[in-house]
Amino acid sequence: MIQINIFWNFILNYEKKPVSPGCIAGSVLKIILIKKIDGLFPGLEMTRQVRCRIEGDHIIPPAGMELIIVDHCNIACRQCNHGSPVIPKWNADPSDVARDLGILSKVFKPAFLKLIGGEPLLHPNLPEVIRAARNSGITNHFLLVTNGILLDRASDDLWSLIDEIEISGYEASALSEDLLSRAMRRAEEHGVSFTLNNFSDFRRTFTVRRTENDELVGKIFRACKIANVWGCYALYKGRIYRCPQSMYVPALAGIDVTEGIAVNDSATFRDELFAFLTSTEPLMSCRYCVGTAGRKQPHKLLPRSNWRMDLEEPAEEMIDWDLLNRLLEEIVPIDDCKTPVKRIRKQDVNSLLHWPMVRKAANQIWRGWR
Ligand code: SF4
Repeated sequence: MIQINIFWNFILNYEKKPVSPGCIAGSVLKIILIKKIDGLFPGLEMTRQVRCRIEGDHIIPPAGMELIIVDHCNIACRQCNHGSPVIPKWNADPSDVARDLGILSKVFKPAFLKLIGGEPLLHPNLPEVIRAARNSGITNHFLLVTNGILLDRASDDLWSLIDEIEISGYEASALSEDLLSRAMRRAEEHGVSFTLNNFSDFRRTFTVRRTENDELVGKIFRACKIANVWGCYALYKGRIYRCPQSMYVPALAGIDVTEGIAVNDSATFRDELFAFLTSTEPLMSCRYCVGTAGRKQPHKLLPRSNWRMDLEEPAEEMIDWDLLNRLLEEIVPIDDCKTPVKRIRKQDVNSLLHWPMVRKAANQIWRGWR
């Protein structure tokens, strides 16, 4: 069974961000494989959910982990899954980050740490927070996610502390080509991988109307790629959460629930964390959320005063029922709201830097040959 799970982890993680024909071919091959294996081993469906595994003292999650840097944002996207338009302003304290990640690093080894908000570039001392995270030794890959509007504010110090940057582009925020070119140039100078993802659509996620139908809540949770496939675990105010939504549902829905598990130094923490991250029981927050099965809508900025009104729809009306049923049958890891449009990987950055030398050498060989 362990080998089967490792095999599934490989297959499901194969194409995180399909952009090339090779990746798309990989996705198709994966779906064919899933279908074939389903035929051979009926009842294997549950192993499709990508799970954490234990290696030595550490839990190895399927991908990375989010570190919430700030709660506030300079724009107000409809159905923002961090509730930023209405959650009060908050900045992570570098000393809290150092303490929590220091403890966590003894039992948890994510492949990367995603620095996210709100809008992280609004933090008054972002380099200090990243330095604290780096010094904890939790991982050696740091990815900054930003809407890009304030990119010109990023200092050289900040660029030197990150390995990768992902810019979320929205039509409404209209990032200029000049700003993006300046950011790409700085990414090149600092050897930082650069991705611009365009989001033309969002899927509905939150509702403030509690879903009483236990069977539906169970299905929403089982079909949820955030909790079960992408592994969007997050550290926020000293607690680890299964998904960002569960950090904000209590405040948005006005319910008295504490989700997540407090980071602590006890001898049983690793096992408690593992049990929490791999539990097949829905969270209380799943009664106020439709996970990744929400109806798709065009991306839109809303006035902050109206943002909560958009959460009044009950789950039954927010769900894309075909998608929910499909996700219960086969979980496809692709985020179909996200379109990568510009990308330079770190090795590409290096090869770009060396390109003039390669071209010069090729010219010399060509001239010599003639
Ligand atoms: S609250 Fe439940 S359904 Fe929503 S993202 Fe989290 S795990 Fe998924």
